Amino acid sequence: MQSPIKQLTESIYHLMLDNKQNDNCVFCSDELKEHIAQLAIAKQSALIVEPTINNSRHECNPKADAIKHFSSIAYILTGDSATFTRHITHATTIEDAHPKTAMFASYEDAYSWSVAKLATA
Ligand SMILES: [Zn+2]
Repeated sequence: MQSPIKQLTESIYHLMLDNKQNDNCVFCSDELKEHIAQLAIAKQSALIVEPTINNSRHECNPKADAIKHFSSIAYILTGDSATFTRHITHATTIEDAHPKTAMFASYEDAYSWSVAKLATA
C-alpha cells in the first residue's frame, strides 16, 4: 500500500488527501490507523493535510482516536472558490473532531503553524 503520508521532519507529517471512489477518506476509515502503524508515527506528531483538487465531498465521520494520535492538524485550503467550498465542509468536520485544527491558505503557513504548535506542546 502506497502511503499518502510523508514524513517532513522528525515530528511533522504531510498527508495528501486523495479522491476516493467509495466515498470515504483516511479520516473516516481505518486507513489513518494503518498508516500510523506502517510508518511508526510517534504520538503527538503534527499533521499537515493537503486535499487534492478532486477530493470528493462525502459524509465524513472521522475516527477521533486515530486523529488525536496527532497533536495538531493543519488543513490547507487553496484553489478557486468552487474547490474551496468543496473542501471547507470536510475541513470543518476534521476541526470538530480535533480541537487543535487550523486552516491555512498556503503550505508555508500550515508548516510554520505546525512548528510553532510543536514548540509549545
Ligand atoms: Zn472522510
